[in-house]
Amino acid sequence: MSKNESVLFLKALKEDGIEHVYLPKKEQAASVQPVAKTVGAPVKDGILKLREKVSKCKLCSELARTRNKVVFGAGNIQAKLVFVGEAPGADEDQQGLPFVGRAGQLLTKIIEAMGLTRDQVFICNVLKCRPPNNRPPAPAEVVNCRPFLKQQIEFIRPKVLVALGNHAAKALLQTEKGISELRGTFQEYEGIPVMCTYHPAYLLRSPGEKRKVWEDMKKVIQLLERPEE
Ligand code: URA
Repeated sequence: MSKNESVLFLKALKEDGIEHVYLPKKEQAASVQPVAKTVGAPVKDGILKLREKVSKCKLCSELARTRNKVVFGAGNIQAKLVFVGEAPGADEDQQGLPFVGRAGQLLTKIIEAMGLTRDQVFICNVLKCRPPNNRPPAPAEVVNCRPFLKQQIEFIRPKVLVALGNHAAKALLQTEKGISELRGTFQEYEGIPVMCTYHPAYLLRSPGEKRKVWEDMKKVIQLLERPEE
């Protein structure tokens, strides 16, 4: 997104009634330090091997038969912030990349409004393959794919996770609580704080809820800014 577009988005957020502290990129980069300093060869090798394994996965026979591309995830493997969505949609399935459709464009705007870029975070989904007709993930598919998500998080070891929507929150937290109850609060996944928030696709249908997501993202920024213990 160009600087101009970024400014327009921030204006649009304001028009939605969202007042927020926007730090210019330089300042934000210095304070948030979105990326860890070093990543060892074992992490890179591990992630590449995992990607290879996921790309050949046939555990969910229907998804393996109907997918065009497996969507492993994209971004920075040293990221301090990882976004977890539900499953690839049609655009993601075509391109093999997460969050590249309309919901993805909104996620990009949210990330940029946080003073970050998609290259500084890691974005992935609970399911790595598109469910036909964008149906919700089946429980057995989540069981099959969850270990891949677990390993991605183990390799990246982010400071904060953001669960986008019900399915991501449920898969990470193994809870029956719904997203409306969970959102805005930090939960925990294997010792990592998880901010649960609304899925961007929901925001496209209910733009008035953007303000709440922005409130959630401000808490994430604050946590990222907190010095490491
Ligand atoms: N919705 C998701 O949950 N993930 C994507 O990658 C795209 C849309």
